[in-house]
Amino acid sequence: MDGNFRIGNGYDIHRLAAGRKLILGGIEIPFEKGLSGHSDADVLVHALMDAMLGALSLGDIGCHFPPSDPRFKGINSLELLKKVHNLVKNKDYCVINIDTVVQAERPKLKEHIPAMKDMLSEVLGLDKARISIKATTMEGLGPIGQGEAISASAVVLLKSV
Ligand code: MG
Repeated sequence: MDGNFRIGNGYDIHRLAAGRKLILGGIEIPFEKGLSGHSDADVLVHALMDAMLGALSLGDIGCHFPPSDPRFKGINSLELLKKVHNLVKNKDYCVINIDTVVQAERPKLKEHIPAMKDMLSEVLGLDKARISIKATTMEGLGPIGQGEAISASAVVLLKSV
């Protein structure tokens, strides 16, 4: 039996590497390193997509957009987010709200969060007041705290329409 509401959570982590652009929440953030990956490695958008897919038990982004598929090499993750959003809409669900957190030691993300929200709001057609993006450091602990990686987690609530 299906309820009217479905909740999903997503998590992702990518290594930081020299010679890559840092893309988070669909925007480029000035930094000496970027996230490595097959796509643009936008860890925030990846976590968000997995939350949206998870809410409807539709698997994960690895099965929808396999890294072995050359079509997804270097792709803007916002294009993948549009595809996931279409899957949600085709299942007759809409996004109620999104809550995310990015774990990064550097760079400081606070000043970039409004632009990330604007971007996600535009792509999803969702009021900014329904999109939360938070950032935290890891207090120097572990690989993220040592500046080797950035991770993100996301929770999304969907409602049947
Ligand atoms: Mg990823």
